[in-house]
This record gives sequence, structure tokens and C-alpha cells, in this order.
Amino acid sequence: MYDYLIVGAGIYGAVFAREAVKAGKSCLIIDKRNHIGGNIYTEKTEGINVHKYGAHIFHTNDRDVWKYVTDYAEFNRYTNSPVANYKGELYNLPFNMNTFNKMWGVVTPDEARAKIEEQKKTALADLAGVTSDDDDKTAAEKIAAFEPSNLEEQAISLIGTDIYEKLIKGYTGKQWGRACTDLPSFIIKRLPVRFTFDNNYFNALYQGIPVGGYTKLVENIIGDIPVMLGVNYLNERESLKKTLKLNKLSSLPGGDVPPTDHFAGLGIAEKVVFTGPVDEYFDYALGPLGYRSVRFETQVLDTDNYQGNAVVNYTDSETPFTRIIEHKHFEFGKDENGNDIPKTVISREYSAEWIPSSEPYYPVNDAENNALYLKYKEMADREPDVIFGGRLGEYRYYDMDQVIAASLKKAAEELNI
Ligand SMILES: Cc1cc2nc3c(=O)[nH]c(=O)nc-3n(C[C@H](O)[C@H](O)[C@H](O)COP(=O)(O)OP(=O)(O)OC[C@H]3O[C@@H](n4cnc5c(N)ncnc54)[C@H](O)[C@@H]3O)c2cc1C
Repeated sequence: MYDYLIVGAGIYGAVFAREAVKAGKSCLIIDKRNHIGGNIYTEKTEGINVHKYGAHIFHTNDRDVWKYVTDYAEFNRYTNSPVANYKGELYNLPFNMNTFNKMWGVVTPDEARAKIEEQKKTALADLAGVTSDDDDKTAAEKIAAFEPSNLEEQAISLIGTDIYEKLIKGYTGKQWGRACTDLPSFIIKRLPVRFTFDNNYFNALYQGIPVGGYTKLVENIIGDIPVMLGVNYLNERESLKKTLKLNKLSSLPGGDVPPTDHFAGLGIAEKVVFTGPVDEYFDYALGPLGYRSVRFETQVLDTDNYQGNAVVNYTDSETPFTRIIEHKHFEFGKDENGNDIPKTVISREYSAEWIPSSEPYYPVNDAENNALYLKYKEMADREPDVIFGGRLGEYRYYDMDQVIAASLKKAAEELNI
């Protein structure tokens, strides 16, 4: 009998299992996929580590988490500096002096600030319905009373029309599958701008990509803990229920099926750590939670450098995909021995509606889904032998470092360490 059955060989499951084994417990990890790593899995193609489920850049301000991951893998010095392509015009992201210089020809931070203020002022006056007949006081009152009613108005009031039109409108619309005028304003609370020539996307103390890919990182964390791949926990639970029900039917009048938690450990473990979708665990008893999905089209190209950068966002609305990832640039176009790689691999990313049979990527944490999640959480709290963790188990948009921190915290509570 194992102490823990870990459902999901993603980063949450791997870290929990490692901590449990360090504390003297035994674990079995299972995953329904045929590989470990969950969504951070990287697969070697043409000598390139391809981020199979979307580009992953590790970044954190948490020293403990950085120490933890660097104990298991060496990280390179990759810094995420995405480029936006708007109908062939290229802009640096996040919005910074390089972006403003390209957009308006401004050279100094003061000029850039003045230009943004001017854009905001014109846009706000327009949105607030200020007319040429209004005196300054009336205009100021109208502007002060203005409340953005959708994402478009919110973005324009924060940054003005030029940046919104070229860098936000099309991209955000594609990401959500809806026009910005049909999206709620709260999605964009702030639009950070930098008045420096700094293209580093993340404001994080530590950043990089594990040398040799993320699969190697997870492999090193898992070490010699047993893993079974291609095993769907929920199918196993279902089969077990059926078998037990049959046995019971033959011996018990009525043949009631015991509550779910009686089956949790599948008869092979005392407790379960479940990192799959919490709604799926309960057979969608309260209805499905909302997710956004992503579709990837991956191609090997016979060129050594397709776009000169790992991440290029396509910010117009006509281009159907949101980004092109050129995986080799995460590792500077070199293989593990420092040799140049003659070919390249690119992935076009399409944002997609989620349907129950497709891969749930991003939880949609709006008020309705969060309320539904709380009901599932109540059910989860009543499963005494099951710990629900990770991005899908807790229905939270977690970055990798947050998942690791959450797993370490849960393990410490559970194992009294
Ligand atoms: C497109 C995209 C880009 C991202 N980019 C970044 C980034 O740049 N930086 C960053 O820090 N984070 C990024 N993230 C977030 C990151 O992917 C997650 O934080 C992390 O992968 C979550 O780990 P997890 O272990 O909780 O879940 P997962 O990685 O989803 O692992 C869960 C595992 O459980 C398995 N499973 C589920 N149900 C069952 C079942 N019934 N039986 C058996 N196994 C099951 C699944 O197959 C899966 O392997 C990104 C996410 C997406 C979607």
C-alpha cells in the first residue's frame, strides 16, 4: 500500500511526491498522458526542446522557489522579450521607450509621457462625450464621471488609441474569442508602461529556461519515484466502482455503492493528490467550470532562423493565430553541446473555445465560474483522503513558480515538515 497516489505527473504532482518521499512516505505517480511534465513538457525535435503545450518561461521573485528549481536543473539566462507584429510593423513589448519611439518617433521619456497623456486626454474626452461647447469645468466634470463600460473603453482611457488599436485590440479579442467591446472592463486593471529601453517582459528577480528542457527538470524532481503513464485515474475509479458494486450486489440486498471517497485510493494508496480538473473529479455534478483552450500548429522548417525571436505576437485581428513561437531561441539556437542547429521548429498558437473533450488550459476566473468553483471546493473539502492541487485541482491561473510554492506549502502542512 502506498501512502500517496499522485494523480498527475505535472510540476505540482512531482514536487509533492518528492517532498513526501523526502519525509519517508511512499508514492506512486500516475498520469493519463504518455509522458511526465504535464503542461510544461518539452519534447526534442531536430535537437530542439519544443514546448509542446505552449511557451513556458520560468520567472519568479520567490528565492525559495528559485533555489528549489535550480537544485534540480541548471537554468540558462533566457529573458523574455516578445515582439509584436502589427501588419508587418514590429514593436517591442512590454510597452517601453522602444515601443514609443517606433510608434511616435519620441526620443526622451518626457516626450513619451507627454504623448501618452495627450492620447489619453483626447480619448477620454471623446469617450466622456465632451463637446467643443463645453467649458473646462464641464469637460473636467464629464471626464471625472466617466466609467468605462467595456474593455475597449478601459484600455483607451488608460493608454490612448494608438497603442490600443495596434497592440491590444486584435490580440485581446483573439485571446478571448470576443470583440473588446463585448469584454468586461475589469480584465484590464492596469496597463504597465515603462519609460526605459527595457524589453524584459517580466519584472522578476529570477528568470530562465532549464538547460535541456522542462522535462529534464521534472524527471530530476521525480527521480526514482515510480511512475505509471497512460493511466486515467477516473477510469480506474470507475472500473473499481463497477467491480465493487457487482461484488456488493451479489452479497448485499440493494447493492448500494459506497461514497466516492471509499474508492479514492483505488485500494492501493491511503491518500490521493489529485491535480486534474476538480469538476471532472466530481463527474461535472454541478456543471462544467469554464476554461479557454489553445490549439497549436507545429512545423519543422528547413531554415536555421525563421523569425529571430522566441515569441512574436500577431496583434492584428485578421491573422487568425495569436503568436508564433520559435522554440530554438529559448536556448539561443544551440543544442546541449553548444552546436548550431540547422533546422527550426515553430508553433502557431490559436486561442480556442473549450469544450469538455478538449484540453482545459486557462481557467476563466470570472464571478460566475469562481462561485461555481467554491461549490466544488466544498465538495472537495468533504473528500477526506484527497488533496486537490495545482492549476486544475484548485481552478486557478497559476504560473509555474506559484504552483511549486503551493505544492511545497501543501506538502509541509500535510507532512508536518
Ligand atoms: C499556454 C500556456 C502557457 C504558459 N506559460 C507559462 C509561462 O511562461 N510561465 C509560467 O510560469 N507558467 C506558464 N503557464 C502555466 C503553467 O503551465 C502551469 O502553472 C503548470 O503547468 C501547472 O502545473 P500543474 O501540475 O498544476 O498542472 P498540469 O501541468 O496541467 O499537470 C496536471 C497533470 O495531471 C494529469 N491528469 C489530469 N487528469 C488526470 C486523470 N484523470 N488521470 C491521470 N492523470 C490526469 C494531466 O495529464 C497532467 O499531466 C502557462 C500555461 C499555459 C496553458
